[in-house]
Amino acid sequence: MSPTITEVAVHDIRFPTSERLDGSDAMHPDPDYSAAYVVLRTDAPDGLEGHGFCFTIGRGNEVAAAAIRALRPHVEGRAVDSVVGDLGGFHRRLTRDSQLRWLGPDKGVTHMAAGALTNAVWDLAAKQAGLPVWEFLAAMPPEQIVDLVDFRYVTDALDREQALDILRAAVPGRAARVAELKASGYPAYTTSPGWLGYSDEKLVKLAQQAVADGFGQIKLKIGADLADDVRRMRLAREAVGPGIRIAVDANQRWDVSDALGWMSALAPYDPYWIEEPTSPDDILAHAAVRAGQPVKVATGEHVANRVVFKQLLQAGAVDFVQIDAARVAGVNENIAILLLAARFGVPVCPHAGGVGLCELVQHLAMFDYAAVSGSLDGRVIEYVDHLHEHFTDPVVIEGGRYRAPTAPGFSARMRPESLAAHRYPDGPVWRARSATAKEAN
Ligand SMILES: [Mg+2]
Repeated sequence: MSPTITEVAVHDIRFPTSERLDGSDAMHPDPDYSAAYVVLRTDAPDGLEGHGFCFTIGRGNEVAAAAIRALRPHVEGRAVDSVVGDLGGFHRRLTRDSQLRWLGPDKGVTHMAAGALTNAVWDLAAKQAGLPVWEFLAAMPPEQIVDLVDFRYVTDALDREQALDILRAAVPGRAARVAELKASGYPAYTTSPGWLGYSDEKLVKLAQQAVADGFGQIKLKIGADLADDVRRMRLAREAVGPGIRIAVDANQRWDVSDALGWMSALAPYDPYWIEEPTSPDDILAHAAVRAGQPVKVATGEHVANRVVFKQLLQAGAVDFVQIDAARVAGVNENIAILLLAARFGVPVCPHAGGVGLCELVQHLAMFDYAAVSGSLDGRVIEYVDHLHEHFTDPVVIEGGRYRAPTAPGFSARMRPESLAAHRYPDGPVWRARSATAKEAN
């Protein structure tokens, strides 16, 4: 008899990261990293659970939590075997809810909520299989992997047969690449030095530390003030030397003309890519930025779905695809995006950071290498050294590389004491803050 998913418990979890300007950029100067966090409880004798979340930066996390609750009828009361045995069908039922889709479709809070639940179900399925998600996926035959994907709206660029061709071509090297990942991990870059709110001294010190720690690439937040950015870019280049890549990230701050002017001014310091130069919805503007200045273009952390990624690729608008584990509708949609990127021969360099995004996305990048692209060329996963201590299976970085996770599941589980302390608005961390704010007034 299959166990049943008896409860979908949803938590509003927030960390007061704005206090230290960690995570500050040109558009988001004061983020409080947050998770609309979901636990799927079952009546399995071994206490099997699935954990997942979507990431927000504070206000509105309650809206994401409400959207997850609105999807509960698709999950609660279902037999675990019926969900785990049809992960593609489960995912499509979430994203195609005939009434909730009016709030999207395939975008925004309801889509992120579908992602949180999809990711929680993958955590549950991989735990049941006794494997980390990346290895669980990398062990599936190509025919099973394409069943996970919703090909609606993308077949003009990638159909089921073309996806099968990509996956089948990667089968012969899979075992060797899985062994290689277990032995030496996956390359990372770090954004820790480059937050916009940090002083020049802190930027230089952390940039030097990143090189000493073995990273071959760092990233700077830019886009608020050109003179400041030229100075920060010069300081960073002096700190790391010519052999280390420095990517820059405008977090959607510009129109096309701003992007062209800004990047021309920074070009003497050899930026590696310009990330999110403009609106994440604007495919043609990304193409214009790519055509109009010499630096490569990356985007994706705010790209709503596989349909927009398809168009970015069709338009030749990006040099790097930056998937995010919790922006689109979870593992299944990210597999569609990995396959689209492979079809167009564009490397995937995942977005991470926030809270828990490194933990999740490492699984998708490792699956990509093992079973989809089969390549590490030009590929790096973002790494940010924040908030990992709240997870029971935190990422491990060694010599500038992600070590392959070995624990069964999606590395998504937060420590119970962290959940209790950071519950919003009534956990002790937030109660103490509101008491301090009242005293100050
Ligand atoms: Mg970014």
